[in-house]
Amino acid sequence: MPQLPDLPLDGLFGQVIMDHYRNPRNRAPVASPDIHAHERNPFCGDAVTVDLKLDNDGRVVQVSVQSEGCSILQATASLMSEALLGKTLEQLLQLSGQFRDWMQGRLKSNPPELEPMQALQVVRQHPVRIKCALLPWTALEVGAQGHRQAKKFPLLPL
Ligand code: ZN
Repeated sequence: MPQLPDLPLDGLFGQVIMDHYRNPRNRAPVASPDIHAHERNPFCGDAVTVDLKLDNDGRVVQVSVQSEGCSILQATASLMSEALLGKTLEQLLQLSGQFRDWMQGRLKSNPPELEPMQALQVVRQHPVRIKCALLPWTALEVGAQGHRQAKKFPLLPL
């Protein structure tokens, strides 16, 4: 496995990243989730699992995000897990697109809901590590898209 360069995690933003890395939020599993997605990045060994429970209005009522891998992946997964409650899948996909645009330099700042994500801005200067920060969002997108497809084309009872 190639050794990734260490990022300078100093200052206030560095402290936020290290705090989420050391004490990841919302890791407890969710029983019978409506959305389940798992993504890996074989390049650096990152892996993340997203489980969400929705209410009858399609809003997120329970969140579980489990990750293993580098500090950036784990911190992003934890930060992301705090931004999902109460959102619809459409809103999640929109936030995800905005985060992706910000990470890749197409947006100057994150939307207000993703304010804590500003802590990750050091990552934007390290293209190799951007993949680590995007992996949890990719899992979220895959899970949300899959759920929408399943709603649109429900399996017919035999
Ligand atoms: Zn990584």
